[in-house]
Amino acid sequence: MMKTPLTLRPMFEYATTYFPDQQIVARQADGLTRRSYRDTGRRVRQLASALAALGVTAGDRVGTFLWNDAAHLEAYFAIPSLGAVLHTINLRLPADHLAYVINHAADRVLIVDRALWPVLAPLRASLSTVRAIILTGTGYVGEPDPPGTLDYDTLLAQGDPAFAWAELEEDQPLGLCYTSATTGYPKGVLYSHRGIYLHSLGLGLANTFGISADDTVLPIVPMFHANAWGLPFAAFWFGAKIVLPGPAPRPAVLLDLLRDEQVTVAIGVPTVWLALAQELERRPAPLALRAAICGGAAAPPALIRRYEKIFHIPFLHGYGMTETSPVATVARLKPSHRDLSEEAQLRVKASQGMPLPGLTVRLEREGRDVPWDGEAVGELCIQGPWIADAYEGDARTAETFRDGWLHTGDVATIDSEGYVRLVDRTKDVIKSGGEWISSVDLENALMAHPAVLEAAVVGIPHPRWGERPLAFVVVKEGMAVTKEELLAALGPQFARWQWPDDVIWVAEVPKTSVGKFLKRALREQYQDYFAPR
Ligand code: ADP
Repeated sequence: MMKTPLTLRPMFEYATTYFPDQQIVARQADGLTRRSYRDTGRRVRQLASALAALGVTAGDRVGTFLWNDAAHLEAYFAIPSLGAVLHTINLRLPADHLAYVINHAADRVLIVDRALWPVLAPLRASLSTVRAIILTGTGYVGEPDPPGTLDYDTLLAQGDPAFAWAELEEDQPLGLCYTSATTGYPKGVLYSHRGIYLHSLGLGLANTFGISADDTVLPIVPMFHANAWGLPFAAFWFGAKIVLPGPAPRPAVLLDLLRDEQVTVAIGVPTVWLALAQELERRPAPLALRAAICGGAAAPPALIRRYEKIFHIPFLHGYGMTETSPVATVARLKPSHRDLSEEAQLRVKASQGMPLPGLTVRLEREGRDVPWDGEAVGELCIQGPWIADAYEGDARTAETFRDGWLHTGDVATIDSEGYVRLVDRTKDVIKSGGEWISSVDLENALMAHPAVLEAAVVGIPHPRWGERPLAFVVVKEGMAVTKEELLAALGPQFARWQWPDDVIWVAEVPKTSVGKFLKRALREQYQDYFAPR
């Protein structure tokens, strides 16, 4: 067989050759732009030639500091077309982490949304490797661009629309993304062309997300976090219409886009789907969604039920992490699940599901394999062609990548059908009197209560039990519930010793940069809650 290199180049060429008239719709602060794949392809080549003129060559890193917009999508293809590395920078990192990741990656050029410039400006002097800064976007009006920066559109206009892609090897790096660490600075994961190619194919499979030219996709998940789950690469390759929600999209904006563009597939974290559900209840709209894809944190069964039963929108739960490109498992029903009761099917849909074809998973505890009986817990380990094998220049590699497996730091069970069910992140498991309590199970049960909008449960040090669960609950607007009612609702599903010792009413659960519950903040703030007075 031919050894055709698995790179982004044939993906880009296929998309622009076979789907030239397909559309990319991008929201900016001042409205929507619509461009064909043909025009986007031309702009990608122009951007690549402009970057080359700035001295970017193979192996160089180019950082993007952008929302999900047209320039970001162009950068997704233009930077790797030179053999350079697309470093997507998380906009919401604290300043010292931002400086760390840009310097650690050794970014030579940064492409920055004008409206976000005030975040980077104070760091400019400390960015030792950056030679050029390109500004784009219409969000920042009133002041001239800062001295020494370049304008994206001017550069593009000077670029060569016929600029040729570099010869690429499949194992060379295409992208770089940093993932947050529990302690210390973020850790960098390098993606190869081959990994992204195979991962993208994975997203196109009918067994997975089935992304095709019939779809209109909306990546709500940011393109600065794990490549928006790889959707931009896959959707472009397969000729889907792509809708990019632009700067800081609010639920109302997202709902308008879902309705006006008749989006068929959207991807987001549970908190986004929760906010959208609230919006949809306020403002029912005719939608064309064939899949509400949810991952990044556990999808509460109550949320899945709400979408499927009330809005009649199929809900698809997946799991992954930056280190897995990121999609690793998807919870689709198998034929053997079809005759199960609705409740039992919901339990399957709320699990993390089966690995994508091409990946292998196992559970490990104290160095040994854990049986697939749906009961025994162990750390989830993954292998496969789009699973990272190291952190970029980081001593923490050895903790996570051992014996040819990625050790995910997630504690799970696997049932006899091969369905993974995450019990917790290793760091979130609550250890009470030598027994484990799943914070995720408690959260799901609390969020199933009709008056509860959000619930997070964390383990707080306890003088007698080591740790005890403490619940943080956000009540829905206009509703009320007492602690006793809530705990009673946990009812038969939990033993009494597993119940949270107390419920703290909060206006909001603190969130990470991508909208996951930030349990560390709660643990730190309440660490003395059970301390003897
Ligand atoms: P960060 O640590 O910055 O959130 P990642 O996005 O890489 O970075 O997070 C990956 C982690 O998110 C996983 O290890 C897992 O703990 C959690 N996660 C992802 N998807 C799911 C899911 N469907 N259910 C439960 N947890 C999930």
